[in-house]
This record gives sequence, structure tokens and C-alpha cells, in this order.
Amino acid sequence: MMTGQQYIDSLRKLNTVIYAFGEKIENFVDHPLFKPHINAAALTYEMAHDPSYEDLVTATSHLTGKKINRFTHIHHSTEDLVKKVKMLRAIAQRTGSCFQRCVGFDGLNALYTTTFEIDQKYGTNYHERVKDYVKYLQETDKMVAGSMTDPKGDRGLTPSKQADPDMFVRVVAKNEKGIVIRGAKAHQTGIINSHEMMVMPTVALGEEDKDYAVACALPVDAAGVIHIFGRQTNDSRKFDQMDQGNACYGAVGGEALTVLEDVFVPWERVFMCGEFDFAGLLVERFACYHRQNYGGCKGGVSDIVIGAAAAMAEMNGVAKASHIRDKLVEMIHLTETIYCGSIACSSQGRPTPSGAYFVDPLLANVTKLNVTRNIYEICRLSHDIAGGLLATLPSEQDLNHPEIGKYVEKYSKGVTSVPAIERIRMTRLLENMTGGTALVESMHGAGSPQAQRVMILRQGNLPHKMKLAKRLASLNKAGEEQN
Ligand code: SF4
Ligand code: FE
Repeated sequence: MMTGQQYIDSLRKLNTVIYAFGEKIENFVDHPLFKPHINAAALTYEMAHDPSYEDLVTATSHLTGKKINRFTHIHHSTEDLVKKVKMLRAIAQRTGSCFQRCVGFDGLNALYTTTFEIDQKYGTNYHERVKDYVKYLQETDKMVAGSMTDPKGDRGLTPSKQADPDMFVRVVAKNEKGIVIRGAKAHQTGIINSHEMMVMPTVALGEEDKDYAVACALPVDAAGVIHIFGRQTNDSRKFDQMDQGNACYGAVGGEALTVLEDVFVPWERVFMCGEFDFAGLLVERFACYHRQNYGGCKGGVSDIVIGAAAAMAEMNGVAKASHIRDKLVEMIHLTETIYCGSIACSSQGRPTPSGAYFVDPLLANVTKLNVTRNIYEICRLSHDIAGGLLATLPSEQDLNHPEIGKYVEKYSKGVTSVPAIERIRMTRLLENMTGGTALVESMHGAGSPQAQRVMILRQGNLPHKMKLAKRLASLNKAGEEQN
């Protein structure tokens, strides 16, 4: 298992092609745009070496029996699933931001379970390849980006009907050594500071979309891979210190548009190639594993938001006001509600034919849908408590200005016992954690709310519920049969 520092050093060996703000980035590891995201991911390595988190952040490999970082583990019990959620909350309580490594973790488990079923039907050997890949990741402790979301073009058209065939990643050539893929993956969380990426389809596919039914793994610095880093709200503040709010770990994960311009992937890293009828299952498995997470990581982030709001109330001299306490209670309630969902879908998990465990899909989707609402409400309440300073605080440069700095400091003070600088720092932290990009991540990360609604309707078993009602109302035969 790598330490945090070993992980950071390992990134220096990569030749990842990255563009940001119109420039090619030569040394991304020390670049202020990427540093917070690297630090957050590094904690997933570092905490594995901390005895107080060892039980959560490490696991025993079912393939080698060796101790591994849990982010490379295949879940083999409901206990594994529950520990995953607890681990995510514990890490988020330290970072206050996304630490990115879960996406590849979820992709790995989704591929592990799905390839077993593909092989059962088609006699292919994808599952063995995935096992080899899992072993490789467990031995090397590499970080993998989960690359699912395609740019998608016209959302009303299937991949093969798009005017531009590259709107979804597809296989453009095959030979005895491997395949060549083309297209792009969007919103790629943590990919800049990953070692590998795992490509998966993003929607259920029909036979005419066969070329798009591709899953494979490749290094992020493979020939033909170009990463274009996305802008975030307030990202120019990464060049300041205090105005960033959470200078060490940033606000969210750091996403990129990753272009795959005819990239070669050897057969041993190809896990699906043409089995279009399994694309839907793979997407669903991945989505549920990732939706499982959100009460964990967003729960941990919310713990900090609650703490920051409570601290602001103290600094403003209103901590004892009953309406403030009510709002803090409400924030805790909303946070624990999303956490309950994550724990519940984990403890109700079941084994798949591969032996690996899968979460309860209905409860996982309910969890994530709650996150799209509760986080906004938690943030709204934090803004209510903190006050207007969140939106109007002068800059760090003004605070440090030889002539006007004293005014910024004097008039930023709340209660006399707290130095103005502490109130400024806490304001910036809260602003950073509850602003634009972080909120949108809660809405659309792990799939947009409509994607959860579709799955909730599918998993919710309405006919069964109607039968229950009809039986009690003695309406029809179906009802009587139930009696
Ligand atoms: Fe992990 Fe949460 Fe970030 Fe997703 S949003 S990668 S679950 S920390
Ligand atoms: Fe996410």
C-alpha cells in the first residue's frame, strides 16, 4: 500500500497530457490548480496507514489474502459495503471535499460482477481479465478513474444515430493485439491525478450500437489521451491562500474532459467488446454502487458545513438563539437521513453470481435522490445562519493592504473574543463548501435526479403495491388470491 507521499511521487512519473486555461500543463503535481485534488486523493492512501482508520480503509484481498487499500477491494459481504460508507464519511470529514477515488472503485466492482455474467452467457474470458486487473491494482495500489459519462450529443438519439459518431466512445478498429477506441469521456472526476482509467458504456445499448459496447482499462497517459481540465466556481482563488476557504483540499473533485483520439488497448485490458445486451446491467451496477456512497461522502462534508455554521453562529454571538439551534438540529437531521440511506442500502446488499456483493438498488437510488435535495437545504440553512458576509467579504489582498487592511479587519469582527481573521477564514470555508460547483456535484454526481427516478420507478414494484391495496379493498381476484 502506498503512503500519501508515495502516491504524490508516483504521479510525477506519468506523462499525462493536460490542458487548463488554454495552456499545456507541464508539472501538474505542483500546480495550484490541481494540488488540492491531489492532496484529497492522497488522504485515501495516507489513512490506510493510520491505525485508527485501518479497519475501514484497508481490507483483505479475496484473491491474494494480502492486506490492501479498500479502494482496490471487491466487496464480499454486507460488512464490506457498510465499511465502505463509513470509510467515505471518515475521509470526507477530513477533506471537506471529494477525494475522487471511489469512482474507479465502483467501476471495478461493477465490472467484476458484470463480466462474470457476460462470460456465463457467451463463454468469453472477461472475468479472468478483470481479476488480473484487480490483482494488478491491489499490488500496485494505483488510482483508477471511472470513465463512464460520454458527451452524449443529442440526448434524444442513440449512440449510432448521432450525427457525429464520436459522441459516445466506440471501437474503431480491432486486431490480434487489441482494440482502438475513439470518442471522449466528460466530467471525469480525479482523472488528472489518477494512474489509470476504466472506460465503460454510459447507457443501455441495442444491437445497432454494438461498437459502443466497450469496457476496458488503460493508463491515463496512453498515446492519444488528452485531458482538458474543467473550470470551477471561484477556481482563480486557487492562486490565493485564504480566499480559497479550503486551500489544502479544495471544494470538489476536479473534473476533466478526456479525449480518446484513437487509443490502443491490448486485449488483456478489454472487459467488454460488443456484448451490447450487458451495457445496461453494467451501467446500473456502477450507478448503484456510486449512489450508495453519497450519504457517506456528502454526510462527511455536511458534518463540516454544520460545524462551520455552528462556529459562525458563535462568532456572530447568536449561538444560543433558539432559531439557530433549531436550524442546526435540522441540518443534523438532514445529514443523518442521507447517511441512513447509505447504511441501509449497504446492509441490505446481496451476493451476485460472481460472489461479489451488490447494494440494494432501490435504497441506493433513494439515498442519492435525497442527497440532491438535502444538501441544498443544508447549505441553505448554513447561509441563513452565517449571514450576508458569505457573499460580500473583501478579498485577501484587501485584508493585506497597507492602508485599507485595518478597516477590513476591524469591520469583519463579530464577538470580541474571536479574532477577525478567524471569522474571515470560517466564512471563506463555508462559502467554498456551499457554493456553485459543490452544490451542482450533489445534484448531478453519480447521475442526475431523473436517472434515480427512472430506477426508483423500475425497482419500486408498483404492481405489488397495487395488489396490496386491492387486497385490503377486496377489489378483485388478484386481491383475493393474496388472501
Ligand atoms: Fe467519492 Fe463522493 Fe467524490 Fe463520488 S463525490 S468520488 S463518492 S468522494
Ligand atoms: Fe461524485
